[in-house]
Amino acid sequence: MSERDLDPRTGLVPGPGAAALLRRLDSTRVLIRTTADSGALALSLANHLVRICPSVAVDAPPIGVNLPVFGMGTLPELAARLLNQARIGRAEGAEGPANLVIGVGDVTAGADLYVSANGWSLRLSVDPHEPLAGRGPAVSAAAALAAAEVFRRLLPELPGVRLARDFEWNLCDYRTRVSEAFPPAAPVDAVCFGAGSVGSSLVLALLLSRAMGDLVVVDDDRLESRNRLKYPAWIGEPGVRAKVDWLQGLALGTSLRVTPYHGSCADWQESGPSAPAMAVAAVDTREGRRQVADVLARETLNAGIEGLAMHVSRNRFGDGLACVYCPYVDTSDRASETDVLRELTGLDSARLLELLGGSKLTAEDVNRMVAGGRLSEADFDLVGGRIGDVARARLYAGARVKTGSGIAEVNAPFVPALAGAILAAEMLKAPGSAAVLDRRVDVDCSGLPTGWTSRPVADPSGRCLCHSQVRRRAYLRAWPKEYPPAGVAEPKGNMKR
Ligand SMILES: [Zn+2]
Repeated sequence: MSERDLDPRTGLVPGPGAAALLRRLDSTRVLIRTTADSGALALSLANHLVRICPSVAVDAPPIGVNLPVFGMGTLPELAARLLNQARIGRAEGAEGPANLVIGVGDVTAGADLYVSANGWSLRLSVDPHEPLAGRGPAVSAAAALAAAEVFRRLLPELPGVRLARDFEWNLCDYRTRVSEAFPPAAPVDAVCFGAGSVGSSLVLALLLSRAMGDLVVVDDDRLESRNRLKYPAWIGEPGVRAKVDWLQGLALGTSLRVTPYHGSCADWQESGPSAPAMAVAAVDTREGRRQVADVLARETLNAGIEGLAMHVSRNRFGDGLACVYCPYVDTSDRASETDVLRELTGLDSARLLELLGGSKLTAEDVNRMVAGGRLSEADFDLVGGRIGDVARARLYAGARVKTGSGIAEVNAPFVPALAGAILAAEMLKAPGSAAVLDRRVDVDCSGLPTGWTSRPVADPSGRCLCHSQVRRRAYLRAWPKEYPPAGVAEPKGNMKR
């Protein structure tokens, strides 16, 4: 198997069209032109793009900046170091003229795509626009959406919508316009379950927004080289292997205190903490979300990713609208998680249940998947990993591109980054303020955000944890004044304890 077949950009099982597709990405040259006040956006965009197409250059004025994660120095110095460290793939023919020029910030001519952002709003356009400038979660969202637009242009085979003229969006009410008002802010006070691509992107977006406050991050996993592509916060050598320690290190010296907890959500729960004001479900299994629902946080933020589509929801508990677990309950009878994984991995149900319960992948598991054609021989670093790693490698945050020679799966690392930016925006809004997400926003990165949000109702089957009277009473005891759940006094017949 050649080195190109193992390129992480096409995931663990590259389709037959992958080699030609990677050649196209390797020979594309992107130039980012930026101005002094848009360094964080320019570097964030370069960070996404250089993981997709290796020939990225940044043309920036030599002003000094100090940015969390990216470091301290002049903008060109930081860009050079970032591109060198984050690049995936080989830059081929990097000397020729750029195929695509992106103007970031106050760039008035000469680009194919223009992007700017202030703290809470962003603009994208094909012609120069009145630039926005500032710091906040919309900077990270703008970088992810601009990377998605470049991704769609580089892969015209993908179905979906391209930017036709101009586009505006904001992370206050998620409508497709620039928001004049900023939401009332509050220091971060939350527990984040999961330090993978979404959890680490959340921390990156918070740091770049100069967030203050306290964030506990709960995860039992270690960094592996296969994670690098999808973790935009992974730029330099981490120096530690536990994901939670790595995130704590990124936040050192900033106003955000990250406290690591090595373990699963269930371990953390058993350690006897009081219910947190806010929990974040940055996990990728149904069981993971069930455990987060059981924490009974006052509010829970959830991110879900499938292919190029993602959603973020802001949930309460037992108030008639969906809790964090509600959307995942009803799937149990139709296609269960083990059925999906059995198809994906070729492992038997008994073993899958052990793995879903937290057991780590053994050499025998990986051997069996390789023998069954589910993984390539180069994937032995999955030994000691989690079953979710296999699923993620094939299903998570990627595009299926139909090429002349077949289907190729291409990773789309900007999708979890966008989820992280939206989670960060919701964490920075004062709880209970009118500006918080009214339940759920969906973005399909095969196009642009629609400007709509939705209010999904609670699981109608009555089987979700949020129908349990015991849990509803515990939630009310923990949060007697805020967000009282509806219907506690009048239990319905279909409710289960
Ligand atoms: Zn529920």
